[in-house]
Amino acid sequence: MKNVLFAISGPSGVGKGTLVKMLLEGDENLVSSVSCTTRAPRAGEADGKDYFFIDRDTFEKKIAAGGFLEYDEHFGNYYGTPLSFVEEMLAKKSVILEIDVKGAMSAKAKKPDTVTVFIAPPSAEELKKRLRGRQSESEQQISERVARAAYEESFARRYDYTVVNDDLQEAYARLRQIVEAERAKG
Ligand code: 5GP
Repeated sequence: MKNVLFAISGPSGVGKGTLVKMLLEGDENLVSSVSCTTRAPRAGEADGKDYFFIDRDTFEKKIAAGGFLEYDEHFGNYYGTPLSFVEEMLAKKSVILEIDVKGAMSAKAKKPDTVTVFIAPPSAEELKKRLRGRQSESEQQISERVARAAYEESFARRYDYTVVNDDLQEAYARLRQIVEAERAKG
């Protein structure tokens, strides 16, 4: 069995977090990567578990040293996938990066054997319904997220696989099949 790096993307509200959790729970040879960020920890977040919380200077030195598989700036803070950490984990297990479309494409460019998977909603209407159901976003934010989802979906055909999350169990089964098939490749 080969250890594989998976980059999983999908719009906010598509159920990506739930699916990744299901994959990790059922598989002791699969782990999730931990990113570095310069933003402050939120209540309940732990260093080394949710993120590696580092300062800007340390982050920039790490960029200069080529220490990131990919990195980006969101809302004025840096976020990045630490290369050595991913490689150390890959020596033992397969690794999942839960990452946005830009990050996934950068990871694939730097490490071409990365397997990219896009989780798509059955439709824009359904995504809207699910976002409304979470009751955590305003109508304005929902519209922004739906627009952002359309932008992200324009990248879907550049992914190795697309999984439509219509039925959660079916989407999970399809994802598991992808993970097994990729690990079995020589
Ligand atoms: P938050 O601050 O809410 O945890 O994350 C903010 C944004 O940063 C989210 O869109 C999240 O996907 C993105 N992000 C988290 N880790 C990484 C990473 O390692 N690389 C990139 N490019 N984006 C990340």
